[in-house]
Amino acid sequence: MATVEIQGLTKRFGAVTVLEPTDLAVADGEFAVIVGPSGCGKSTLLRMIAGLEVPSDGRVLIDGRDVTDAAPADRGLAMVFQSYALYPHLSVAENIAFPLKVQRRPRAEIAARVAEVADTLELGALLHRRPAALSGGQRQRVSIARAIVREPKVLLLDEPLSNLDAELRVRMRHEFARLHGRLGATMIYVTHDQLEAMTLANRIVVMGGGRVEQVGAPLDLYARPANLAVARAIGAPG
Ligand code: ADP
Ligand code: MG
Repeated sequence: MATVEIQGLTKRFGAVTVLEPTDLAVADGEFAVIVGPSGCGKSTLLRMIAGLEVPSDGRVLIDGRDVTDAAPADRGLAMVFQSYALYPHLSVAENIAFPLKVQRRPRAEIAARVAEVADTLELGALLHRRPAALSGGQRQRVSIARAIVREPKVLLLDEPLSNLDAELRVRMRHEFARLHGRLGATMIYVTHDQLEAMTLANRIVVMGGGRVEQVGAPLDLYARPANLAVARAIGAPG
């Protein structure tokens, strides 16, 4: 497990400030959910934590270690994308194994680990298929399996369910709760789905217009939203 801390983290694209200087601390093993309207900077914030976007200013600390200049692979975290981002020419098993192959882990260890993760996500029967032969829900499972195969201390998820139908979203929502319990990893989960936020989060981070509007436990935010934007973001009566 690991803490994730950002200090004065800022992002500008040219003259446009997408993220105002932001501080946030996510505790060891916490399930933090970031909500907010489209374009408010949620993905940009997550990508800077992951090391996929270079901050204009500020720092990212994981377990107290400054990783602001570290490569994504050296941060002890993994990310799940809305678009799944699977390798189309590789089988399910090869997709899941990929992060371990990059690390040149022994073949037997890779096989054992892929089998274990495939079991966790009920992918055992699909290991030889290519992504094109999978449903949306199955593809999302593969992308999650690939993300957790290296046992990351931190799992970042950017609207992981937004491309799935309503029924599957409910099922996967329960699975994320189960996965969190099982992995014990620190999770930072971006969504615009109020129900996902209210049911999954230990704490909700409400963003709006490039800044954090309010942070708190779901029921506290629901009962005492700081402003109308917060109420809207979590579906509370304004
Ligand atoms: P969210 O995930 O909350 O919908 P994003 O973080 O994707 O928001 O985007 C925040 C803002 O930053 C948007 O206005 C978007 O257009 C802008 N933006 C994101 N990436 C870039 C980029 N590479 N260049 C310029 N503007 C960008
Ligand atoms: Mg986004």
